[in-house]
Amino acid sequence: MIGTTVSHYKILVELGGGGMGVVYKAEDTELGRQVALKFLPEEVAQDEQVLERFLREARAAAALNHPHICTIHEIARHEGKPFLVMELLEGHTLKHTISGRPMETDTMLRLGGQVAEALAAAHAKGIVHRDIKPANIFVTRDGHAKVLDFGLAKLTPQAGNEDETAAFASDPSDLTSAGSAVGTVAYMSPEQALAKEVDARTDLFSLGAVLYEMATGRRAFAGSSTVAIFDSILHKEPTPVARVNPNLPFEIEQVIAKALIKDPSMRYQTASDLAADLRRLRKQSETG
Ligand code: ATP
Ligand code: MG
Repeated sequence: MIGTTVSHYKILVELGGGGMGVVYKAEDTELGRQVALKFLPEEVAQDEQVLERFLREARAAAALNHPHICTIHEIARHEGKPFLVMELLEGHTLKHTISGRPMETDTMLRLGGQVAEALAAAHAKGIVHRDIKPANIFVTRDGHAKVLDFGLAKLTPQAGNEDETAAFASDPSDLTSAGSAVGTVAYMSPEQALAKEVDARTDLFSLGAVLYEMATGRRAFAGSSTVAIFDSILHKEPTPVARVNPNLPFEIEQVIAKALIKDPSMRYQTASDLAADLRRLRKQSETG
């Protein structure tokens, strides 16, 4: 692909790839700017029904104009294969940024708050992300959070489907010894793990799991297989964050715990409530 031109995009380098396709840095030769192109996996591109759903979601996501959501410029096709044209981000994913270490409390509250605000904007338009995880949150060089991959999660088979693991293949660090990918399931809400109907509150649980990891450097729900992870999501309470990281104020522990409540009716009900709590904590820690 490198060096080839697709439509009016010249492909420069590969930026990475996950379960939902490959991302390239490219040059828009008409507008003379750099962009990111994401090609969907073949299996997805071939199923017309799935594709139709993807296009519908992508259009909705493209309409989300928000400082903390990665902008989608265009959805196009090349030799029948659909691809997304996005804003090119510079920096690293949150997954890379965390790398097993707790983040500074203020950075965590600031980035977490930005993601919560991005979700509030999407939820207001009826769009649920469904795959909030550190790999789908980008931290730009100037320190802003950008949520990636709105709409894409619907394309992956739901948990509970037999062929689930194949489609969840992502990065090798997420592979178990048995070879199945468990990266994505670690941030699923209990209702999503049970393949029930989900609503906006599923994203709040996933963000809770992300906040937990930002605060501690550890996953909220770990296990050596998909089944073991589902078991902890459904039945276990993660070690309280303050026990893992004693520097954390107690209120942060409470906020994370409220996002991680298993019953969605007792969890945070809206992303803006969670965003407000994160703002309040930031203000408190500023004033001492
Ligand atoms: P999944 O397919 O489950 O979402 P993933 O998030 O690891 O897995 P991709 O979404 O395909 O994989 O992204 C691959 C990599 O491409 C990301 O890790 C990120 O570093 C990079 N990337 C994605 N979108 C952009 C963008 N708009 N600008 C710059 N880099 C990007
Ligand atoms: Mg992604």
